[in-house]
Amino acid sequence: MTAPADDTAAGVQAPGPAAEALAEYRRRRDFTRTDEPPGTGGSAAADRPVFVVQKHDASSLHYDLRLEMNGVLKSWAVPKGPSLDPADKRLAVHVEDHPLEYATFEGSIPEGEYGGGTVMVWDFGWWEPDLAWLAESKGGKSKGKPARAREAGGGAEVAAEAAAELAAAADGTGAVAPAFDPEDALAAGDLKFIVHGQKLTGSWALVQMKGRGEKNWLLLKHRDGAARPGSNITGEAPDSVATGRSLEQIAADEQIAADEAT
Ligand code: MN
Repeated sequence: MTAPADDTAAGVQAPGPAAEALAEYRRRRDFTRTDEPPGTGGSAAADRPVFVVQKHDASSLHYDLRLEMNGVLKSWAVPKGPSLDPADKRLAVHVEDHPLEYATFEGSIPEGEYGGGTVMVWDFGWWEPDLAWLAESKGGKSKGKPARAREAGGGAEVAAEAAAELAAAADGTGAVAPAFDPEDALAAGDLKFIVHGQKLTGSWALVQMKGRGEKNWLLLKHRDGAARPGSNITGEAPDSVATGRSLEQIAADEQIAADEAT
């Protein structure tokens, strides 16, 4: 196998910042041994930022939450998996950025390699920042107004107002500068976001834990129409949204493929 000489065929993104962000991802892996993508291509042509949760049967079973941000997949390992019950606060350990192509990876990583075990695409879709909730939680003078408006049922107005507020707060270095950079929310340890998946929907939060080391975050479901108190989504919907397969079926298929190759 040969590495592509350049990224021009992909032509989707500048290699600079993403390539740098993926250095740790590449350092941990031997791409002559794992089928995981090396991260030399671009986006899988999604016009909206990818949201994916991969179920990963490694040394211990966990769920990897990934959100596309500035050319890479920001990633958290969630040992118990996401929950639609707002009462559940799930530990989410921030791990290295992954390449965009990883979002569709389903298969086996050889035993003895980093993350060795079976990977499933457990949920897939896109995500966006929850601008209304972010504005509300910014505190100070903006705190009271959106909350009152929300009680009064003015949801659309609140969102528009919050977006305008965030746009006004942006530093304005260029005419096309986005109103909101989610990396700023991550740096502040508090990202509110809406996911549009097949199993997970609605508004969520990733909140960095104070005084527990910077890698430890909590994943929470916001109390909204998509919340389902008392539910157990990982138990109810265990299989792949990409292929319908269980972890056992993916592992068995990989074994058959490996046997046929020898
Ligand atoms: Mn993992």
